[in-house]
Amino acid sequence: MQLISPSKILRGENAWINSIPEIIKLTKSPLLIGRSLNTKELRFKILKSLTTHNLNVSFEELDFDCCEEDLERLYDLAIKGKNDSIIAAGGGKVLDSGKLLAEELSIPCITIPLSAATCAGWTALANIYSKNGEFIKDVKLKSCPDILICDHSFIKTAPKETLSSGIADSLAKWYESSITSSSNLDGVVQQAIQISRVLRDQLFINGEKAYLNQTENNLSWINVIEANTLTAGLVGGIGGEKCRTAAAHAIHNAITQIRSKRKRLHGEIVGVGILLQLRLEESKNNNKLADQSIKQLVKFMKKLNLPTTIKDLGIDVFEDNNLERIANFTCRKESEIHFLPFEVTPYDIVEVIKKFESKKIAI
Ligand SMILES: [Zn+2]
Repeated sequence: MQLISPSKILRGENAWINSIPEIIKLTKSPLLIGRSLNTKELRFKILKSLTTHNLNVSFEELDFDCCEEDLERLYDLAIKGKNDSIIAAGGGKVLDSGKLLAEELSIPCITIPLSAATCAGWTALANIYSKNGEFIKDVKLKSCPDILICDHSFIKTAPKETLSSGIADSLAKWYESSITSSSNLDGVVQQAIQISRVLRDQLFINGEKAYLNQTENNLSWINVIEANTLTAGLVGGIGGEKCRTAAAHAIHNAITQIRSKRKRLHGEIVGVGILLQLRLEESKNNNKLADQSIKQLVKFMKKLNLPTTIKDLGIDVFEDNNLERIANFTCRKESEIHFLPFEVTPYDIVEVIKKFESKKIAI
């Protein structure tokens, strides 16, 4: 089983071109999938280079986030088209769809992240959403992708907010793994936690410079995109389940259940989840440094134009029964919130969010 990392990883400005000989060894008739209009030009570029190398490529688009309806449709198309691999090119939800399809079809998977918003190109995990973008469940896969292609010239074309969203999601690795796994006696898990700490520090150092100047000549930008697409995946790979998620992601999953006035990226929600997790640690686990960590994070997140409250995500928690719905979903039986070393009830979530949303955080 290959659960720690993809079998082959190509990175750099020419990663795509350099990966073609590896792709040819693996597949003759790939199904290339993607979704957004923003990435269409790049996906055509990928299609063109594959066909010039005599591959018989099928090209399909997802209609929604990674959801059962799309997956069933593409599964049938792949069977009909006798495709012998999946090439997923796009954001996290496209990459997750590609991994799920490849596993269902028992064929190789090649991932090409087209933004630095996610480590989904690396991991043996996928999230399933409804057609409306509500989180349903995560699925553990049998292996990481066969090839991960982190082409800097592709990622450079992504909108700025995908970079900041990826930074928030990668930061969560430290805040979630350090609280859930610091008492784990497994040396490898301890090493994974320390990698997530270095990852956090590098993002604090390089994040703003990367955000302000998305070019391949900017070393900070290279460090950040590789931190988000590669290192964040490695932490999950070697650290295992408890190194991946805790309250920040549990709160993310709950927030996706509520209709919002604006489109929110995964990491943007997770970032708010980190702040709420720290408030929970403060009130339930006597974490005396939580307030300081929140101030440090909020200051940093504001520089990257990241949301820092649920309101910034386009949701008023005081409307309808939004607050109760978020609290109940966060604390459902199968939620990662229960990886925390202290008990959390829906009442705790309601209290923390109420205070958090009604108070301006002094920085
Ligand atoms: Zn995440």
